Amino acid sequence: MQLYILPLGGCCCTYEVIAPGIADGKRIHIPVPAFLIRLDDDSLVLVDTGMSRLHIADPDLTWGGTPLADVLVPDMRREDSLLWRLAELDIAPAEIKYVINTHLHFDHAGNNDLLKDATFFVQREHYEYAKDNPSFPNQYWNLPALSYELLDGETTLFPGVEVIPTPGHAPAHQSVLVRLPESGNMIICGDAVYCQENYDHDAWGGQADPETARASALALRDRADRESASMVYGHDRNQAKTLRFSTNSYR
Ligand SMILES: [Zn+2]
Repeated sequence: MQLYILPLGGCCCTYEVIAPGIADGKRIHIPVPAFLIRLDDDSLVLVDTGMSRLHIADPDLTWGGTPLADVLVPDMRREDSLLWRLAELDIAPAEIKYVINTHLHFDHAGNNDLLKDATFFVQREHYEYAKDNPSFPNQYWNLPALSYELLDGETTLFPGVEVIPTPGHAPAHQSVLVRLPESGNMIICGDAVYCQENYDHDAWGGQADPETARASALALRDRADRESASMVYGHDRNQAKTLRFSTNSYR
């Protein structure tokens, strides 16, 4: 099994969006990654699909004219397109067999529309919550051509790939545990944890349901300890400096 971290650009936002009470008002640039897993049978699994490639030409595409227009400003170069990142690995979108969406926000499901040949795994409760909900721009993922398989709780999807419900960022958000033969266990947190500062400052006020998010994040860290797993946070610009990005990989 092999895992690639795909860098898909970032977002400019204020500090309090991800970690309130530390440097409120300060503008920062947060990374937006997706993850590509090659299973032992060579099947390809994406975890999240990043922001729509259309933001490269039009950063205001999703939030322009809304109260979020200045809060979340996508910042993507042409190489930050999911298509570009896959092409660097000689992979066509039609070769992606499965997609796990941690949740359906615009920076995690923005290129679902490209993957009509894939089966998408989302928690049922999350899918129902996000449907027709403007906080989860439906134009990127709620499309008749896409096939969703809805999950109910913790599930082993493939040998060495498990989803773990981590609600609080959104109802039935899920994180992903990947068991790599050489690099060891890795937990893709999604937005259950934005960044290390959430733990360091006990700062969960950027989450939709801070108390539930805090409980999920603490349970996830306990799980990581038990599994000797490293944790990859959702949008941690400092941790990003320590990660190995595609075209390099973890095995
Ligand atoms: Zn996010």
